[in-house]
Formats: sequence, structure tokens, C-alpha cells
Amino acid sequence: MRKIAARGRREVAALIRPKKVAMSGPITVKDLSAALAVKSADIISRLVQQGMMATANQVISSEVAELVAIEFDAELVVEHKTTLEEQIRTEFEKRERKNLKKRSVIAAMLGHVDHGKTSLLDKIRSTHVTAGEAGGITQHIGASQVTWDSKTVTFLDTPGHEAFTAMRARGANMTDVVVLTVAADDGVMPQTIEAIAHSRAAAVPIIVALNKIDLPGCDINRVYGQLAEHGLSPSEWGGQTEVVKTSAVTGDGIRDLLEHLDYVAELLELKADDTIPATGWVVEARLSPQQGPVGTLLIEEGLLSKGDVVLAGCAYGRVKMLKNSLGKSVKTATSSMPVEITGLSDVPQAGDRFYCLDDINRAKAAAEQNKERSRESTLTQRTQVTLDNLFSQIEAGNVKELNLIIRADVQGSVDVLTKYLSELSTEEVKVRILHAAPGGITQGDVLLAEASNAIIIGFNVTGDEHVAKLAETKGIEIRHYNIIYRITEELQKSMAGLLEPEEREETLGRAVVRQTFKVSRIGTVAGCYVTSGTAAKSAKMRLIRDNIVLRGDLSIESLKHFKDDAREVKTGLECGIKIAGFDDVKIDDVLEFYEIVKIARTL
Ligand code: GDP
Repeated sequence: MRKIAARGRREVAALIRPKKVAMSGPITVKDLSAALAVKSADIISRLVQQGMMATANQVISSEVAELVAIEFDAELVVEHKTTLEEQIRTEFEKRERKNLKKRSVIAAMLGHVDHGKTSLLDKIRSTHVTAGEAGGITQHIGASQVTWDSKTVTFLDTPGHEAFTAMRARGANMTDVVVLTVAADDGVMPQTIEAIAHSRAAAVPIIVALNKIDLPGCDINRVYGQLAEHGLSPSEWGGQTEVVKTSAVTGDGIRDLLEHLDYVAELLELKADDTIPATGWVVEARLSPQQGPVGTLLIEEGLLSKGDVVLAGCAYGRVKMLKNSLGKSVKTATSSMPVEITGLSDVPQAGDRFYCLDDINRAKAAAEQNKERSRESTLTQRTQVTLDNLFSQIEAGNVKELNLIIRADVQGSVDVLTKYLSELSTEEVKVRILHAAPGGITQGDVLLAEASNAIIIGFNVTGDEHVAKLAETKGIEIRHYNIIYRITEELQKSMAGLLEPEEREETLGRAVVRQTFKVSRIGTVAGCYVTSGTAAKSAKMRLIRDNIVLRGDLSIESLKHFKDDAREVKTGLECGIKIAGFDDVKIDDVLEFYEIVKIARTL
């Protein structure tokens, strides 16, 4: 009787579902199920419909939890508990600044490979070591400061725009100005254009170093024209962009470049108070067998002294050794200076913010809390914008701009897409094209999408497997299209919340063509090696050559594993494929297998 009575109570309890629930993060599926009085399995199946594999103990982001709650007719309010670090951050932001002074500019060198970023930086460093320190070996600690005529500039050693953007994705916007290095003999190249897009997305001004000016026969006007085409009209032509002609070989123009950078500090009115406790970012960190955790910190503002208590992400401690970028021990360091320190409890991560505190116990408590949270947050994925959730994100006020990255097979398509997609802006949502270029989708594109909450559109192109994996782990949406009006139509609909239950493709696997055989009366058979997933007889297929989709919507006429017909061939195995109605397959072509699944747009 008691059992039956208890069961009865349970059933009654399950039927009374709360209309309004308050929770505080991190939220697991189990917590949510208890709060909403809905079975975990029901929540999991809703998540699976959205392509999110979850277990009962999995932490889900508060946005996802809120959307799930709406599904079950409840309103979920996720209360955000402020962390110790957030409290510290607010305190630091509110500090009174009585001694504001100009601080030196922080610059990063970006540009196409081999255009001279490293050489230029080396030349700048070797020719601008201050008196008394002359002959000192410049240390590579991830950043450095150069001084001349009592002026200084700080350089970050960002090896390219991908690292620059990866830091930004972590919230570290350290760079005040980008030095875009363009070789005069080579001109604007694909990575130059990418670097421009990445700088713009970060809203960082650009100064161009027109490098290798010592080489004979450079057509400077041609490069000026290319720069102007990409919105960097040189000031010599009446435009807004400073172009400094430099040579890392002769040293020509380097002083001029530094003066221009120093001028940016004035233009941007970069000011800081060197008397308040320091804050800034971790540029690099490593574990040294002799010294323990060693970190390069870049001071954004304030004073850091030997013996100070520092909190940096999951690490804390007292500054034991303090060195400047020349490797010289110093007692104190101030705004815009990169320093190397030891004395931390742990190795912090590049991009972590650091704070100089007066209480070691508070630093320890905050570091421990950060450690705990980072363990949890590896389980939570930040909700990136996708076409499916765009409308709900617009409604929730999370999205006011739809950021897009466009990759297409040819420049003509890039131009047309840029034009059409920009025209889709409405009063509620502005469409912003962060980057549009011909060629396959790159890792840099995915990082840019992550840092700027963007969707990537591939028109007749894909990225390699590495890129697809990276996008998947970061939750970045890559949409593939081969008809222009489909893109505009889908974007328009998703902005208006009208995207219907849709057919979406799911990638099954990839194979690379290693051999081709001409077989009479059958045609060309491709001898393939399955590099990931499975090759399935029933799948649809696209043929990719150099990241360009040559043909989509192909089907398999026959699939053989050795001599036998196969339904599926798995990763690491070889197979013979005859593509239906297509014989122009070549060695090194990639075949991507996919199937079309119907996805209900419920969340
Ligand atoms: P990064 O890939 O942009 O860092 O380019 P590097 O600094 O490695 O330079 C690539 C090549 O260009 C090297 O062989 C350099 O010696 C050469 N180089 C760099 N700057 C100049 C320059 O101003 N003039 C000439 N003639 N060669 C340069």
C-alpha cells in the first residue's frame, strides 16, 4: 500500500510542473530535469534533435538550458553568481586614476608569410637597444619593448593573425595597433587580406610597413592600388592609412615606423596610471625545470613590483623574479611593459588576465575558484550563433549583428556574395561581412568565427578535415552551398525566425583517391583510402580538389572492399568506388560522404 501510495505521489508531483524556475549555473541536464520536473531522457532527446550529444551529468550552457525550459513551457531564469575574479575585475575597473600619463602603444606584426615580420622585428630590436644595455641579448619572451629618444613601443611576437585572433577569442585584446607587413616585390597576398580582416574584426587600426623596399624594381604604385582596393588607401594618395617604406636589411624606414607607432599612442590617447596596482594579460607561460612556472606578463596599466601578490587565471603567488624583455632584473615595471616573472603556483594560460592584489589569501581563493570553474566550463560550450538559433538569439537580445565569413571558389562569387549578403541587413540585425575570400575554409576562419561569433559560408568550397573538426569542437557553424539564392533565402528566413524544419546534411566520412583505374564498359574506378568516418554505399558524395568542391550531389554506383561489394567501408580501409555518371576523378581528389537528415527546429 505504501509503495502504491508513494508511486501515486510521485506521479502527481511529476505532473505539477513549475512555470517559473530560478537556477544558478553551472547547470547539468540532471539539475535541469529536477528543476523542471521533466525526465532527463526527455531533455536529452531534445538536445539530440539539435545535434547536441549530452549525458545526464553534462553541463549545458545557460542559453541552452533556457531554451530547453521554454520547450517544456517553463521560464528559466539563470542567476549568475559573480566569481571572485569578476569582483576583483569590477573593483579594478572602478579604481580612481589620479596620475594618468601617456602609455606606450602595443603593436603586433601581421602579414603574409615571408614578407618580413620576423626580420623587421629583429632589426628593430637590435638597432634600438637603449644605451647601457647595448650588446644585451634580446630575449624572446613573447613580447618586447624598444626605446628611442625617451619614447617606447611594445611589440607582441604574435606569429600571425591566427594566434592574434585566438587570444581575442579568450578575451585578451592586447593590441592597440597592427603593423601590416607587405613585401613591396610581392604585394598584397591572401594572408595579407586575412590579416586585414582579422584586424578589422578586432577593431584595431592598421599601419602598413611596405617592406623589402631595398629590392630593385618594386612597383610601389601597384601595391598602393592593391591596398586601396582593400580599404587601406595610402595617405600619400590622400587616404587614411599610413604606409611606411621599410627595409629589414638596410634598416631604412624603421625609425619612421617607430615614430608613426608612437604617434598612434597620442592619436588614440592611450593613458594609464603607473601608481596603482598592475593588471594586464599573460602573453606566454611555461614550466621551467629550475624555476617552476615562468610567465610573460604584459602590463596594461599600473605598477608591478618584486614581491607583489599576483593572481593569473588558475595561478597565484608572489613575484619572485622580475625581468624586462632584455632579460635584465628590475625592481618594478609599469604600463605597457612586458615582463617575465616567476613565483606563481601554477602555469597560467596565455590570454589569462592578471591582477596585482594585496592579499595572498584572496588571490589563492580566486585562483582555486577559477580552477574549479575551468574544469566545469570545459564541459560547457558557449552557444555560438547558428542559422537555427539566430532568431531566438536576436529575440533574446544576444545578437544585433550577424557576422559572416565567406569563402567561395572564385573571386567573382566572392564579389557577388559580398554584395548580396550585405544587402540583407534589416533594422534589427545588421549583416557584417568579416572576411570574404576565394579558396578553402581555413583554421584561421574558424578562429575568427569563434572570436567574433560568426557563421562561415562555404560556396562550392570546404575546409579539410582538420578545419571541420576544429569547427565542430568550437561549435562553429559552417554552411555549404552551391546556389547563391539558397544562401540569401536561408539567411533571410533565419533572421525572421521562419526557417522551416529543414533538411540538413550530416557528414559521414571522407576518403582520398590513391589510384584510378579505367575499366572498359564501366568507366573510371577510384581506388580510395577512407581517412575518417565511413564510406557508405547509400551516401551522397561531393568531389573535392584542392578544397574546391568540383561536384556535389554525386552518388555511388558501386562500392567494393577488395573484390566484394560492400555497404560500408570504415576508416583506415581501402575501397574501390565507381561514381555514378562521373569519370573525371583524379589521384588526390577527396570524396566526402554525407547524408541528408531532417531536423526539426525545436529549440
Ligand atoms: P616572415 O615570415 O614574415 O616572418 O618573414 P621573414 O622575416 O622570415 O623574412 C622572409 C625572408 O625575406 C627572409 O629570407 C628575409 O631575409 C627576407 N627579408 C625580410 N625583410 C627583408 C627586406 O627588407 N629586404 C630584403 N631584401 N629581404 C628581406
